[in-house]
Amino acid sequence: MVVEKNRRAIFPGSFDPFTIGHESIVRRGLEMFDHIVIAVGINADKRCMFSAEERVGFIRKVFEGQDEISVMTYTGLTIDFARENDCQHILRGLRTSADFEFERAIAQVNKQLSGIDTAFLLTSPEHTPVNSTIVRDILRHGGDASAFLPEKIRGVVKLS
Ligand code: ADP
Repeated sequence: MVVEKNRRAIFPGSFDPFTIGHESIVRRGLEMFDHIVIAVGINADKRCMFSAEERVGFIRKVFEGQDEISVMTYTGLTIDFARENDCQHILRGLRTSADFEFERAIAQVNKQLSGIDTAFLLTSPEHTPVNSTIVRDILRHGGDASAFLPEKIRGVVKLS
């Protein structure tokens, strides 16, 4: 009997806030993995525009009703959280060569420390310029960032 292994990946990030670029990586990642844990990193040194609860709430709304996605917060090392949640892979998106250089070192160190491999998906061309920093700048100055936000949270992601 062939027992299929349940392939689980963790998709870690700050997601401040979650964008169409992130959404696309997760949806495409589901072609490769049975379950994806979207892990919202809590970093005390990093000031975020949205609280951890808000960021998790936005992401849960995007994937409402999809059992193959779970959303959690975490602190500490990504590899430790991956192991605790039975994830054999880390999923990350790559936009530019700068992303690659940054991600390469982290992925190689993670592999050395834990044996966990990182799977990279190249961003879809139309999402290359999309990032959370730009979305935050637009929101901070009262602009309309809806084109960069997943459909289900357009009008929901706003400064309180
Ligand atoms: P971090 O602070 O860990 O970089 P981010 O929330 O900025 O967290 O990004 C999380 C992941 O999503 C990273 O792998 C990043 O490369 C990827 N990502 C961010 N924006 C895009 C995009 N527009 N297209 C594809 N992947 C993206």
